Amino acid sequence: MMQEQWQEVAKRLKEKLEPARYDAWVAPLQVEMRGGILHLIAPGRFFLDGLKRDCADDIRREVEAVFGAGTEICYGVGDAVAQHVQADADRARQDERAGRVDGNIDSRFTFANFVVGPSNEFVFAACQAVAERPGEHYNPLYVHGGVGLGKTHLIHAVANALIQQNRHSIAYRTGERFTNELIEAIRTRSTQAFRERYRQVDVLIIDDVQFIEGKTSTQEEFFHTFNALHEIRKQIILVSDRSPHNMAHLEERLRSRFNWGLVADIQPPNLETRLAILHSKAELAGIVLDKDVAYLLASRITNNVRELEGALTRLNAYAHLTRQSISVDMARQVLREQLRVAERVVDIDDIQKKVADYYAIAPKDMKSSRRSRNIAFPRQVAMFLCKELTRKSLPEIGEAFGGRDHTTVLYACRKIEEQRAGDAEFNDEVNRLIKSIQPDSM
Ligand code: ADP
Ligand code: MG
Repeated sequence: MMQEQWQEVAKRLKEKLEPARYDAWVAPLQVEMRGGILHLIAPGRFFLDGLKRDCADDIRREVEAVFGAGTEICYGVGDAVAQHVQADADRARQDERAGRVDGNIDSRFTFANFVVGPSNEFVFAACQAVAERPGEHYNPLYVHGGVGLGKTHLIHAVANALIQQNRHSIAYRTGERFTNELIEAIRTRSTQAFRERYRQVDVLIIDDVQFIEGKTSTQEEFFHTFNALHEIRKQIILVSDRSPHNMAHLEERLRSRFNWGLVADIQPPNLETRLAILHSKAELAGIVLDKDVAYLLASRITNNVRELEGALTRLNAYAHLTRQSISVDMARQVLREQLRVAERVVDIDDIQKKVADYYAIAPKDMKSSRRSRNIAFPRQVAMFLCKELTRKSLPEIGEAFGGRDHTTVLYACRKIEEQRAGDAEFNDEVNRLIKSIQPDSM
């Protein structure tokens, strides 16, 4: 991709410069993209000085036109012969297969603009590791989690990182498209070609793999593709809305393979992460978002980042059309429907009662000084929920729990968050509690 862009730059320069200047300065350049910086490597020091004097401005202009404004250019000197040899080898390899992408990858989904928090840091790290050394670490990498939590974003980020490296051929499919292609191949008696296409890639990414559940011939075909790739250590990345365990209609042999590598889940982000995501999205889109509005959205829209983003987009569109700036009042008006769900205010008392009830302890023990685990633990859960579901500050929460210090509250929140991330059953328990406290919110 980068090479193609550079070819375009070269073509434009050729049209612009006299042939002698083009041949002398531009034609011998080698290019490389490293860390987002375009490296132009000249065959010698003398050469480089001439180049800079003679056509650096023209190059900058065309590079910006093709690669985008502000693209950083770095000039360097390389061993001319070695460079050429290397470039030829690169080109030959590239012609063969490397750097090819089959499937639509959204270039906006990158690691850099993914906000990391306790709910997703594990998956994030796993995806980065796979992007660094595909086929070597976790194979397959199986990512699962609820709707709108960033699964597709993350695997596109892996693909984009691999595209940058320009060394791997990648195939990206949704489970649905994979299935449809197979059906089509069967219909046109071209299953052999279908098979070969997938077995040649270095990295195979299947999004929403749950779609193949219960589809016998798709599972069969996928099973063989999986084996063929896995055997020669090609990377497989799978995304699903469920764990392999919970794919009830998945063939057993596929289920066991899905568990061979690393299974990582992504949880709904906590309030802090939701706020950070909102601010990041606003910044990317050039939206001015004050913190009260952000808080309103993040505290009400809790379970789906896509919805959170959608709310921001709507708000921004409305602000533009009416030529006003975004405010809390506007948000309440424009997003009435979305915000309504959590409109009911919950207070600390409510939470303490519900949690005490749930764990069958006396409500007054929420404030007592007793420290036995069967009491301390529900108390910590309740503190955590107060932080998540009310606007109270840590000191205020501590106060309401028998005058405890804010650091005690902070500790409880961290502990519960960690346990939630590591223990799916407990996580469900907390979600049930949230649901019972905020009946309409989930
Ligand atoms: P999923 O595939 O899990 O349903 P997506 O990957 O499509 O979800 O994410 C939905 C939207 O939310 C995307 O626009 C994505 O960029 C955004 N998103 C989700 N999580 C994050 C995050 N942690 N940081 C930044 N954006 C996120
Ligand atoms: Mg998705």
